[in-house]
Amino acid sequence: MKPVIALVGRPNVGKSTLFNRLTGRRDAIVADYAGLTRDRHYGDGALAGHEFIVIDTGGFEPDCTSGIFQEMAKQTRQAVAEADAVIFVVDVRAGLSAQDHDIARFLRTTSKRVLLAANKAEGMKDGPQLAEFHELGIGEPLAVSSAHGQGIRSLIELALEGL
Ligand code: GDP
Ligand code: MG
Repeated sequence: MKPVIALVGRPNVGKSTLFNRLTGRRDAIVADYAGLTRDRHYGDGALAGHEFIVIDTGGFEPDCTSGIFQEMAKQTRQAVAEADAVIFVVDVRAGLSAQDHDIARFLRTTSKRVLLAANKAEGMKDGPQLAEFHELGIGEPLAVSSAHGQGIRSLIELALEGL
């Protein structure tokens, strides 16, 4: 079985951009995976000789009645439950938001490995913009650019280490 990596984070931080970069838009056939359900977005990830399954979150049904926040929380919980490792994506240009704190509060209760990806960091050195993300209590923020493919390889190597 390939390891499963879940991408979580508030809307617009770049989860789907990261998903597409990791998977080359290859949808995964997950029928063989006990515990994975059909109503989420899974992709076949391949990078630097590693193969894995990626779960994107944040695709909302247009007729969703529960509201965007409840739906986000539900998708986050479900994806984390299915994953071996979690990548929590935040937007280093937008900075921290209340929603990031809400997601972090939940992620701090999981025993799964959680990595903090500070996305949209192209053209930035690991500097002052990253510092505030320590507040989330998730560990060291890793500067990445999903759009430009920077920092993605080491992010995935850390996510998969020992799995
Ligand atoms: P999601 O809602 O978390 O899935 O976010 P998306 O992947 O849809 O991206 C939201 C917006 O951020 C889009 O306009 C992307 O082009 C942009 N974006 C994603 N990754 C990056 C990045 O690494 N750098 C920059 N500058 N923009 C990005
Ligand atoms: Mg998305």
